[in-house]
Amino acid sequence: MDPILELKDICLSYHSMEGEIPALSHISFTVEKGEFVALVGPSGCGKSTILNLIAGLITPEGGSVLLEGKPAQESDLYVGYMLQKDHLFEWRTLWQNVMLGLEIQKKVTPERKARVMQLLEDYGLGGFRDVRPSQLSGGMRQRAALIRTLALDPAFLLLDEPFSALDYQTRLKVSDDIGTIIRREQRTALLVTHDISEAISMADRVIILTAGPARIQKEVPIRLSVSERTPMSSRSAPEFKTYFNEIWKELNTDAQA
Ligand code: ADP
Ligand code: MG
Repeated sequence: MDPILELKDICLSYHSMEGEIPALSHISFTVEKGEFVALVGPSGCGKSTILNLIAGLITPEGGSVLLEGKPAQESDLYVGYMLQKDHLFEWRTLWQNVMLGLEIQKKVTPERKARVMQLLEDYGLGGFRDVRPSQLSGGMRQRAALIRTLALDPAFLLLDEPFSALDYQTRLKVSDDIGTIIRREQRTALLVTHDISEAISMADRVIILTAGPARIQKEVPIRLSVSERTPMSSRSAPEFKTYFNEIWKELNTDAQA
């Protein structure tokens, strides 16, 4: 079976007034269905560019992006995208916000409405349907943003530093909630983060990128001996620290190069 995502030898430069900025250099990796993969790398190395390629928002100069074996731009696989800012609209209630994607795509059906209702119930937002975003905590807003993305039933989730606007305590709680939801809903996900602990706690595999133009420095499969894996339980696994040191060292080797 084809992997759900395959990047083959991707090269890309941005062209600006100042000249050419090489962003990605010969990037190849795959993601299997149901896998949770984290991409880590220094700021400005090209992580968001990789997500934009997968979402089909930009095209590579060289190489190919395949979703279930088909070029990303021809694929009818629905890719959900979650960003650092939650982009909830203050003039809409929580319910109207989480239904927005379905409305825009004219996909509102009684079944889909019931599913979104259930997601809100399951993830602690059932009592807040008529509330405006400003009345919700940062963590509730991120959960709402994820539910709005899940409402469209994406086969693949792209998460671009979704927790970086939150304070440390909230960030731990929200990454635990979001990681648990994504696993329970059996989604395939690619998370961009510059937080090594977050990557290890959430992912099945961590891909380390070099400073820009990004190349792949190393891929590290994460195997933790915890009985039920959640981001929070992962942090207390005996192997956690070893992975942290390994990845930290890889990132620093690159900085010194
Ligand atoms: P990251 O998400 O890892 O911080 P990005 O993918 O956003 O990095 O950017 C990679 C590099 O490409 C950076 O040097 C950035 O300044 C540059 N870049 C990103 N988008 C554009 C653009 N639209 N035009 C020109 N340069 C860009
Ligand atoms: Mg970025």
